[in-house]
Amino acid sequence: MKFVVMPGQARERVTPDSRAEPDKLPFSAPGFPAPAFGRPGNDDSPGTRPMPSYDPNNIFAKILRGELPCHKVYEDDKAFAFLDIMPRAPGHTLVLPKAPARNLLDCPPDDLAHVAKVAQQVAKAAMKAFDADGITMQQFNESAGGQVVFHLHVHIIPRKTGVMMKPPASEKEKPEVLAEQAKRLAAALAAG
Ligand code: 5GP
Repeated sequence: MKFVVMPGQARERVTPDSRAEPDKLPFSAPGFPAPAFGRPGNDDSPGTRPMPSYDPNNIFAKILRGELPCHKVYEDDKAFAFLDIMPRAPGHTLVLPKAPARNLLDCPPDDLAHVAKVAQQVAKAAMKAFDADGITMQQFNESAGGQVVFHLHVHIIPRKTGVMMKPPASEKEKPEVLAEQAKRLAAALAAG
């Protein structure tokens, strides 16, 4: 682990996973329409920074509505899980609430709790299905927090000892590989 200490600044942790890219904020780019702003949840307290409201046209909303394809591994009445199209390791899975939530900050606690429960089930099944030595769980909130797709999701990434994760969004996996992995993970989930 490396630390960068700048004069007058707090100590900042630098890892290969540092992903905050404020310059890539879509709503600060020229040509983008101004976003609709709204406060998450019921928080109307003065001084709270406004957050953009949920965009029903985000890519995961389209997957949830069946408008775009995915390699599904699990579904119940409140949650949905599918393979990441650019996996950081084989079996990289995303777990989402079905109800609209931009991220951790505006998600109703019950939906969040259910996502955590499903994420644990997926993690346990992924340990078996991918013969993993461990699991990395990630979850990003807002662009400054590293979030790219604005429907709440938890990353479940099976890990092997000594094998680095690929950088985020570095390589699209072949559909036939994802199809086989989704089948394997779904079977491990069904087996409990
Ligand atoms: P975030 O940084 O928002 O937590 O991560 C978004 C994730 O969604 C990334 O890991 C990226 O590879 C994945 N992703 C982006 N577009 C698609 C897509 O169309 N289908 C699937 N399955 N994953 C996607």
